[in-house]
Amino acid sequence: MKLLVTAGPTREPIDPVRYLSNRSSGRMGYAIAEAAVSRDHEVVLITGPVNLDPPANCEIISVETAREMYQAVQSNILSCDAAILCAAVADYRVAEVAPEKIKKHSDTLTLRLEKTDDILGSCRSAFGFRGILVGFAAETENLESNARRKLEKKDCDLLMANDVSRKDIGFDSRENEALLLSRDGETKKLPRQDKRQLGNLLIETVEKKLIDRVETR
Ligand code: C5P
Repeated sequence: MKLLVTAGPTREPIDPVRYLSNRSSGRMGYAIAEAAVSRDHEVVLITGPVNLDPPANCEIISVETAREMYQAVQSNILSCDAAILCAAVADYRVAEVAPEKIKKHSDTLTLRLEKTDDILGSCRSAFGFRGILVGFAAETENLESNARRKLEKKDCDLLMANDVSRKDIGFDSRENEALLLSRDGETKKLPRQDKRQLGNLLIETVEKKLIDRVETR
């Protein structure tokens, strides 16, 4: 299959030297891309800025902002059988980016933020994607119920949810523990393991969903 994967954080500029971002390392998305390549799939990896070696044998598209990631997903998704949107996309960007470096003249500084486009939420409605759609949910409370709501709202086939309030897993760590929810109401607990192993499990599940879909046509 041909697979689109998004990974890493985005950076939303404040002025020419500063930006808003988050703690995503990109490890989970890169591990998913590597697992897919090792299972002989074609992969387009759309990545925000990370400190990781690019996985071999993938098409890599590097972006910085949520808007650039949105455009890259829009241009590539319809040629793919499945899309795994693992990136920690910024929810807000600075509404007026300063053209010059902001000087520290005043004691307080207010930045007005505006919402970014929801890339995952646009895949079905705006982009018209009919393939297998996988979302991620990073939550600090009510993991399963928040994840279930997100899966339904964004019309995903699968959603991988992890608890980012824990220091030992998730952001910037090599291991993760997750819940894998599917559209049919099933929730699987994936115990703590290496992100590469989790990536493999996820790709296997996506392969099965794709086969089931072809068989029920
Ligand atoms: O709603 P929330 O941001 O928590 O949803 C997380 C999921 O949505 C992840 O799969 C993430 O990649 C995706 N997302 C996105 N575009 C955004 C925000 C989140 O694709 N602007």
